[in-house]
Amino acid sequence: MTFSKVLIANRGEIALRVIRACKELGLKTVAVYSQADTDAMHVHLADQALCIGPAAPADSYLNQHTILLAAMASGAEAIHPGYGFLSENAMFAEAVEQLGLHFIGPTADAIRTMGDKVAAKRAMLAAGVPCVPGPDSALPNDDAAIFDVAEAIGYPVIVKAAGGGGGRGMRVIHDKSGLLAAVATTREEARRAFGNPALYLEKFLVHPRHIEIQILCDQHGAGVWLGSRDCSMQRRHQKVLEEAPAPGIADMALRAVGERCVEACRQIGYRGVGTFEFLYEAEAFYFIEMNTRLQVEHPVTEEVSGVDIVKAQLLVALGEPLGITQDDIVSVGHAFECRINAEDPFTFVPSPGVLSSWSVPGGHGVRVDSHMRAGADIPPYYDSMIGKLIVRGRDRTEALARMRVALAGFEVEGVKTNLPLHRALFDDAGFIDGGTDIHYLERWLPQRAVT
Ligand code: ADP
Repeated sequence: MTFSKVLIANRGEIALRVIRACKELGLKTVAVYSQADTDAMHVHLADQALCIGPAAPADSYLNQHTILLAAMASGAEAIHPGYGFLSENAMFAEAVEQLGLHFIGPTADAIRTMGDKVAAKRAMLAAGVPCVPGPDSALPNDDAAIFDVAEAIGYPVIVKAAGGGGGRGMRVIHDKSGLLAAVATTREEARRAFGNPALYLEKFLVHPRHIEIQILCDQHGAGVWLGSRDCSMQRRHQKVLEEAPAPGIADMALRAVGERCVEACRQIGYRGVGTFEFLYEAEAFYFIEMNTRLQVEHPVTEEVSGVDIVKAQLLVALGEPLGITQDDIVSVGHAFECRINAEDPFTFVPSPGVLSSWSVPGGHGVRVDSHMRAGADIPPYYDSMIGKLIVRGRDRTEALARMRVALAGFEVEGVKTNLPLHRALFDDAGFIDGGTDIHYLERWLPQRAVT
């Protein structure tokens, strides 16, 4: 099946990223927007734009019915979901294909399997992908059996919701006294938040890094991995900045895990782009989940691999063969991405409002992916990310220096941003050394020096 007109079921910088890639390929674009986004950049950049409802995400960007109607009305033949919103919704992917349209992403079945963390773990073990120690089956309901599972793993353990996401639905348990209560609370939370009470237990890793592998597969059984990213700088499980490649990990070790990821894709018949997320501790990788979509941090991989991931995603969706093999993928230099959020840099409270000025840095190796411009209104209803600052250097040291200069030259007025946080981080000795664990940022925050 082929298509020539794509509806982008998203907003913000990712909608622009997708619209531009479509245009480069000669594909027509349809934007959808909420009443809060009537003057948003994606509305202006697309060939056509349709309002899909009120500001609240549930009434617009998450409203499957209206988005499908917009696709039919505009004659779009494919839907790109971006990230967030409906991008990992198997029912939506199914509904799109039932209408005879193309969902730019994996099959609904693949989304469903990977959306169930127990099923995902089972599929990964079958493909030889290293996983966190713990059973690849849901936790039984019987108290004695729960104790047995935890004892067999060894404390500390973490109880997680099979249907969990966004860093919710999990609890760490340090010894057996807290086990049953934690399981009961998490089960209730899982039932309410995800509509699925299934839980599983695994070893809690105390000082891991977050390392991920980007993959790209066509519809003909070919796949490649495009390198590694380190996304350990997190606050409340939200990534703050990312880099590629992951520093200080031997190429051989990355290659071994990358090859397993590609093998797993082959076994589950995966198509399109995806990311395997791992915790990394004591030189070992432990799979935690797969994201079956484009990710916010895809640009750092683009910068070091030279592959336009969004264009590649569209081309494989059009049925094109990959046209590259693993030997063609070479990682050159180093890249960082800072997520620029409209929020207080100390309290992290979102800071919506009107941007009175917006002046972005530029120059060699500097890229800004953003939907902002001076005078733009940042509505309070959506994610507070207003752009991404990405830099590339010939090595990590050059990229660090380039990011410092770029951050110093980034001027935003009218709303608060986390730019001061990024500036302080890029002057921090621990971060500069590289290889910090996922708790580093939260330990650092109380004693930081922000300028
Ligand atoms: P979600 O889908 O909610 O993002 P993940 O399984 O990706 O859930 O886990 C989110 C975060 O929780 C991880 O990035 C890590 O910080 C922490 N985490 C998850 N599993 C473990 C584990 N076994 N040991 C230590 N930390 C973990």
